[in-house]
Amino acid sequence: TKKPPALQSFLSLVSRRASHLARQRYDVIVVGGGHAGTEAAAAAARVGAKTLMVSQKIQTIGALSCNPSLGGVGKGQLVKEVDALDGLCGRAGDYAGIHFSILNRSKGPAVWGPRAQLDRQRYREFIQSELLSTPGLTVLEGSVEELLVSDPNPEESGQHRVTGIRLANEVHPISAASVVLTTGTFLSGSLFMGQTESPGGRIGDAPSSPGLSQTLRETLGLRVGRLRTGTPPRIVKESVDFSLAKIHPPDSHPTPFSFLNTRTHCKSEEQLPCYLTYTTPGVERVVRESLHLNCHIQQDTKGPRYCPSIESRVLRFPGRQHQVWLEPEGVTSDLLYPQGLSMTMPPDVQLRLIREIPALHRAEIHTPGYGVQYDFVCPTQLSPALQVKSTQGLFLAGQINGTTGYEEAAAQGLWAGVNAARLALSMPTVALSRTESYIGVLIDDLVSRGVTEPYRMFTSRAEYRTSLRPDNADLRLTLKGFEEVGCVSSSRYQEAVRVRDRLQDALTALQALALSTRNWRKRLPDVGMSEAKNTMLTGMEVLQYNDVSFETLASAFPEILSPHVEFSQRLKIEAVYRPHCHLQKKEIERIQKEENMSLPQDIDYFSLSVSLSQEVREILDKVRPTTLGAATRLQGITPAAIVHLFNYVRHTG
Ligand code: FAD
Repeated sequence: TKKPPALQSFLSLVSRRASHLARQRYDVIVVGGGHAGTEAAAAAARVGAKTLMVSQKIQTIGALSCNPSLGGVGKGQLVKEVDALDGLCGRAGDYAGIHFSILNRSKGPAVWGPRAQLDRQRYREFIQSELLSTPGLTVLEGSVEELLVSDPNPEESGQHRVTGIRLANEVHPISAASVVLTTGTFLSGSLFMGQTESPGGRIGDAPSSPGLSQTLRETLGLRVGRLRTGTPPRIVKESVDFSLAKIHPPDSHPTPFSFLNTRTHCKSEEQLPCYLTYTTPGVERVVRESLHLNCHIQQDTKGPRYCPSIESRVLRFPGRQHQVWLEPEGVTSDLLYPQGLSMTMPPDVQLRLIREIPALHRAEIHTPGYGVQYDFVCPTQLSPALQVKSTQGLFLAGQINGTTGYEEAAAQGLWAGVNAARLALSMPTVALSRTESYIGVLIDDLVSRGVTEPYRMFTSRAEYRTSLRPDNADLRLTLKGFEEVGCVSSSRYQEAVRVRDRLQDALTALQALALSTRNWRKRLPDVGMSEAKNTMLTGMEVLQYNDVSFETLASAFPEILSPHVEFSQRLKIEAVYRPHCHLQKKEIERIQKEENMSLPQDIDYFSLSVSLSQEVREILDKVRPTTLGAATRLQGITPAAIVHLFNYVRHTG
């Protein structure tokens, strides 16, 4: 985790470069410097394209617009995959993290969610440092006012072709073979606080120029929808009564996101705690009393289901206590981020509301919460390379495709950047499948099913989640990223090859270690191995036992296994999941053959005791598909939900 130099030196570097660019020609131009834009620009440059990234404000490149955290369940898997493809966010998280934890630890390692609370400033500094030291990448401060496209060409199946961009206050265009749009919440963005609506992409930032939306809607004829999100007020740390909240310590040993790092920048003992507290009936009362002063909540535009505002939570689940996490914003920051209190009422009402929570009874607000509504492009109009089907060379990534979250944006950005570069360099575009990555699941869900509300990643969306684990993202993607895609550095590739070969040696040694159960019991007397049969078991099979760790095996057979202890945890996980992965694959194949299985029309989807999310239950209840095949094709139904439904009907029908 190298430390980037001071931000100021980058700012001067960027502004000096900015004056020479008009009339230049680039392979790839990336519009936007958020999570999608930064990954797209870096990935395009890694593939070898001459790349320009244009963003409205240099200072906000790599900014965390909302929560200061990275990863989580499903999202952590995306961060690991972006890292495996040599992206930035994993290493930035390791540098900026101030509170690391693995979520879902009580469940299997396949669905563990690596997560970190971040120092906002450090995160930005790291991303900016990486971009400005990436060969082949130029960063420019500016606002893109116009996307330049050619008329449809009958010789190119009637497609438009992107030709470049024009900046605000610039006469000359900048041309490029590919353009990646990553404008986040800025496309026709409107900010809401109380009864006030004003144009903006996020607080303090103007929205994208209307010219961009116009080109997408009118010239290119793209279907565009509208979504919303919001952010909580930031609270002055010293005004909080922490004695009335429950402390939530980080993991004692921080686990890095990046496969390149063995430790995080923040030492274990330097990590900061979070605090947990709850809403009270007073919070609900303030929400209800102020609804007439809150125009954001009165509108029909869909908001994020899994990160709802306090208004939505209270109205949807009246009478409940809701969790509020008080999270640090940085090592030296005086502010706290109250996760769960996103709100859009007037600032004086926001203050009244937060003071209804005991730990916040005398809290002060530094910056009020607000809401944002923005245009997104319906992503079914994109190919799996994230290229707009009707427009050669135009790629979209991030919130503009209807997703929510930094990790979803980063993953799409990386893949769009890779493909924009490959197209510009006359190489075929590439796709990732659902069977090899969460990035593949994310993109497939977007381009084949579309979105009706902000999309976020969950492990339940991946039917092959026992093989798409955080621990093996390097083996799944780094080798392919170097050999077939071209976005991975040779040094990272060499390391992944070393890991693959060493793991293979260890697995071979475990398979070759075959003993009868009687002999295993002699060597491992503390392991509860069945006495019933005296069969042969390999080391791999014994490692599947709950109470057998790789270290235990290695101490029983040091001459064979101790050279492999470097990979103890990975080997244990591999041993445990092998049989599951095999069974899961078979199950999916069987379901594919059962397309015509009838679904009873009287199922009460809300009371089924199978693992289905509320979102899936609502869709099934509303549509009542008649066959399993029809359920599979419904927007919002996850492959994992289909497996549960299939098993339910098979056992009850
Ligand atoms: P952004 O990070 O928004 O980056 C867009 C970039 O494009 C910016 O750098 C902007 O300056 C630049 N840009 C835009 N137009 C132009 C132009 N014409 N020319 C040049 N540059 C341009 N996520 C959650 O997961 N949960 C939440 O609760 C949540 N709440 C949010 C609340 C608010 C108020 C906001 C603003 C965002 C919230 N997010 C939330 C979303 C999260 O910030 C995004 O998902 C993520 O940042 C999307 O990344 P992105 O790269 O697509 O866009």
